[in-house]
Amino acid sequence: MSSETNTLIIGGGIIGVSIASMLSDREVMILDSGAPRYGTSIGNAGHVVVSHAQPFAAPGMLGMGAKSLLASDGAFAFSRNLPMNTIPWITKFMRSCTKKNVEEFTPGILSLLRKSAELIKSTGVDTTTTPTWEVFTSQKALEQAQKEYEHLTHLGIAARIVGRTQARELEPSLTPKVQAVLELSEDFGLDPLLLWQHMRDANPGLIFHSNESVTAITRVRSGYRVTTQSGLEITAKNIVIASGSWSREVGKFLGLNIPILAAKGYSVTVQMHNGADAQYPNSSFPNSLHPMIFADEKTATDPFGDYLRISARFELTNPHDRSLNEKRVRHLYERASTVINLPPIPTDLAQLSAWTGLRPASADGAPYIGPVPNLPGVFLATGHGMIGTALSLGTADLITRYITQGPVTDAELALSPSRI
Ligand SMILES: Cc1cc2nc3c(=O)[nH]c(=O)nc-3n(C[C@H](O)[C@H](O)[C@H](O)COP(=O)(O)OP(=O)(O)OC[C@H]3O[C@@H](n4cnc5c(N)ncnc54)[C@H](O)[C@@H]3O)c2cc1C
Repeated sequence: MSSETNTLIIGGGIIGVSIASMLSDREVMILDSGAPRYGTSIGNAGHVVVSHAQPFAAPGMLGMGAKSLLASDGAFAFSRNLPMNTIPWITKFMRSCTKKNVEEFTPGILSLLRKSAELIKSTGVDTTTTPTWEVFTSQKALEQAQKEYEHLTHLGIAARIVGRTQARELEPSLTPKVQAVLELSEDFGLDPLLLWQHMRDANPGLIFHSNESVTAITRVRSGYRVTTQSGLEITAKNIVIASGSWSREVGKFLGLNIPILAAKGYSVTVQMHNGADAQYPNSSFPNSLHPMIFADEKTATDPFGDYLRISARFELTNPHDRSLNEKRVRHLYERASTVINLPPIPTDLAQLSAWTGLRPASADGAPYIGPVPNLPGVFLATGHGMIGTALSLGTADLITRYITQGPVTDAELALSPSRI
């Protein structure tokens, strides 16, 4: 079976479907080895965080990482199943934890996050009406909140400090442990499944091949010929690698070495109690109104619809490791319980709908978005780490401008794969 298209996207996660939606006036196909595989883009925490414009590799990260590795259940960890390429990735990551790295990538990430937030709101997909809160619980909470406030204000990102008493009045799910709250006025939450479905269906001309895993890519006169495990052959003028945690594997077919590692995260999802006449009146899980990030517990919560999702952990591993460790689920729940009023953990953990997903983590903590040097028509849209949903439509907008030869700013150029 062979066919042709203008643009072929490898990967049907949120990045792939968002790009397809914006190329609606061109022929576009997606190949995905699942439907999409492992559902990282549909099971994540759904925070749209303009406030997270700083690349993940930044000063202070090494100290925080080291402290976390020494703790019995820190937020950052290495699994026992690490792939061979881990050491060069870690070396590059450590070298990237500099002020220069932050200055180089923050403007580009910020402009894409803002664009994304604006475009996501314009889709009509349900979002939380309350802004996101960063919650501090340590003895130095006020100092931490003030420092973060100054950092965000310096970048021009809207934020305000909410006092402890007012915070507990406005968000009844908080426990007395809360000391200070920073309201991140530009941030909000959503159900990532709804956004993914909306973007997948936005381009009626899109051909989405599920369960087709790319096994080879060769250069031909009219572009590239891509082959899958079932024998499907597609020739395309443009190829976009949007293969998340598997981008390194896909890039190899073109001789590329894309420095990406999978970072496993955990979540649990529970039905909230919304009052006596609510759909789940017997649920013992509290109402929570704001998407929240617990800065000291390195845990996040997002209330969407009747559900509350709690997520945590960044465990470097191989791109096929979705193992779910019950001890980690318990720790995640217990850590969150210190900040929001959750009932005791159920004996049957199945009630928590525990889940793991794999974040595509780049070695310098910034995404790779743009054309690949010396491979005309090949583009990368990967390495979005913890903020793939938040960056989705901004990434799609930028890739579309590259493909249609629209204008690209210097800040956006900094994110291009020419730095690999
Ligand atoms: C616990 C957790 C919480 C998170 N919370 C948030 C959050 O609150 N906000 C946020 O913005 N982000 C969050 N993220 C991160 C976000 O989920 C990711 O950044 C995002 O999903 C990456 O999207 P993607 O499309 O690049 O990758 P994916 O969704 O992984 O899609 C890549 C696709 O490529 C396909 N593929 C791979 N290899 C091949 C091949 N050979 N042939 C064909 N197809 C292939 C795969 O099948 C897969 O479907 C979270 C992640 C986790 C794990």
